[in-house]
Amino acid sequence: MLEKPSIDADQFDRQKRIAGWDQDAISKLNVLVVGAGALGNEVVKGLAQIGVGRITLVDFDRIVKANLNRCVFFCPMDAANGLFKARVIATRARSINKKIRITPILKNVEELPENFYSQFDYVFSCLDNLGARLHLNSHCYGKVPLIDGGTTGFFGKVQVVIAPSACLECAMSEQDYQFLWRKYSCVGDPLDFIDPKTPALSTTNSIIAALQVNEMIKLVHCAASLERKGGKPQPKVVGEEQGGQSNVEQAKWLFGNTLVGKYLFYDGVRNTQAVFSVERRQGCPVHG
Ligand SMILES: [Zn+2]
Repeated sequence: MLEKPSIDADQFDRQKRIAGWDQDAISKLNVLVVGAGALGNEVVKGLAQIGVGRITLVDFDRIVKANLNRCVFFCPMDAANGLFKARVIATRARSINKKIRITPILKNVEELPENFYSQFDYVFSCLDNLGARLHLNSHCYGKVPLIDGGTTGFFGKVQVVIAPSACLECAMSEQDYQFLWRKYSCVGDPLDFIDPKTPALSTTNSIIAALQVNEMIKLVHCAASLERKGGKPQPKVVGEEQGGQSNVEQAKWLFGNTLVGKYLFYDGVRNTQAVFSVERRQGCPVHG
């Protein structure tokens, strides 16, 4: 006797119930995640759960006990054995979605070749230091959308960079530059002793990583809708009204509500979040 297909047999059934959801567009994605720490763990978890097809994960670091308070894929034995973060995440993410193709690269972001980035649809910056984030920012700008996340204790931020909007460096203050200058020695080697480990909390990391993945979901659906209509996504399109009249209108509405050219600041003490515009800064070294 033929059994009725069960709605519970499809791993992605519940998200497909979201109006306009395009599982095909999600499954085809080829995404780069840089950093396999707390944010990297949570971002890969989110990407695996929604069914992203391919992920490349870059991190040269090994797991230590102090990672275990906030890294969902790591366990005490990994720390005891000093396993590579990227390798462990790659193996365990497959337990969420066995179809996922996930490639760990055990390198520092600065070691990646110049032409590496343009093969990807989206890049997630899950780094804990400003120098590496700026390196990624300058190498992705104009080539691939960059979704940056950062946290410290109860606070976090998310920024999306798609040319020609403002980049991460546009938002840098004089104080940030001074910090960078102090952080590196005259030969370019990091001086770790003046950069003590920042406070880190699993709750904040989960929230910020979820917001990063959520930004990608909106951008993917915007791009997919416009592609079907033969249009091209434009970062500056902002619609105040809720879409729904057509796919294109809905795509514009979604895109207008992304964090492209903006950043979101999250405050877990006061339970608030605020979105700020980031203007292109004249003289920014990334785009002049
Ligand atoms: Zn800039």
